[in-house]
Amino acid sequence: MNIHDIESTKLLLKKQSKISIIPHKNPDGDAIGSCLALYHYLKLKNCDVTVVSPNDFPSNLKWLPDAETILIYDNQPEKAREQIKKSQLIFTLDFNSLKRADTLTPLLETSKATFVMIDHHEEPDGYAQIAFSNPKASSTCSMVCSFIDAMGDQNLINKTIATCLYTGMMTDTGNFKYASTTSSTFKKASFLIEKGADNSQINNNVFDTNSYNKLQLLSIALKNMVYLKDYDTAYITLSAEELAQNDAQKGDTEGFVNYGLTIKDTKLAVIFIQEKDYVKMSFRSKNQYDVNVFARKYFKGGGHMNAAGGKYNGSIEEAVAFFKEVLPEIIKKRY
Ligand code: 5GP
Ligand code: MN
Repeated sequence: MNIHDIESTKLLLKKQSKISIIPHKNPDGDAIGSCLALYHYLKLKNCDVTVVSPNDFPSNLKWLPDAETILIYDNQPEKAREQIKKSQLIFTLDFNSLKRADTLTPLLETSKATFVMIDHHEEPDGYAQIAFSNPKASSTCSMVCSFIDAMGDQNLINKTIATCLYTGMMTDTGNFKYASTTSSTFKKASFLIEKGADNSQINNNVFDTNSYNKLQLLSIALKNMVYLKDYDTAYITLSAEELAQNDAQKGDTEGFVNYGLTIKDTKLAVIFIQEKDYVKMSFRSKNQYDVNVFARKYFKGGGHMNAAGGKYNGSIEEAVAFFKEVLPEIIKKRY
């Protein structure tokens, strides 16, 4: 972490300003974990701080300490608007472009606050006065861990903060298995366990709390999977009807896309999910196949080299047809 930026952040925190912390739309374990970890840290430093999320987050993250204090714009728009308007300092976590804040974007774009970004996505936009950006980091949570350390406050990392940080590190590394996982990831995880993070309990809370409906939906997703042998590519579709029939809840489809990558020699896995006005897509790849560039170019999205998201305006059938058209650009046909 850049020492100059750390010193500037220390000065900003001394001003006793009102602070908001913002995750991206549809926040995942890393977004919520990092926001709550930073929230608890700033509380220990006697700051007036609130986490404001554009929309709700999955139920398997609701157990995180103080998750109930998160202000959700979709549920309380007036209160959320007021909070952001009054903030002099805004931390944005786990995203690289204000567009990712969705309903909060206009509020953030017109805010006079000083922005501090902590994020690990590729090619960040330049909206933040202070930007801690590290695309090599396996999660924003691991960056927040380094941030607190760089602020000289490692001793403030208690069980609560360690629990939040461990959660995001665990989810964003696919349980410490993605290529982004390094020895330093394990060192941090080990440190957090020493500070009180209960790794087995956290794993249980996040991964072993599925509903029956979610598993039924997974069975449909797996049945719908198509394998394009020529391109070593697997894709899944989930229609609005299939989601409704299984009473799909927020976060239920998270992780489904990864099943495609477990087929031997798969290079690319994609899921197409019908949302209200568009088709949401998730991309996962192995090795050098860059889905960040692919999603940016064709699907108004982005993310990381091996995990990215995007969208397509149209029907699922149209999205799949267009995807097949542009697929040869990322994966060469096998002969
Ligand atoms: P997921 O497929 O799980 O929604 O997202 C995979 C990764 O790509 C996550 O790190 C997520 O933050 C990022 N991502 C997902 N959708 C978008 C998008 O529309 N734009 C950008 N820039 N990143 C995205
Ligand atoms: Mn992340």
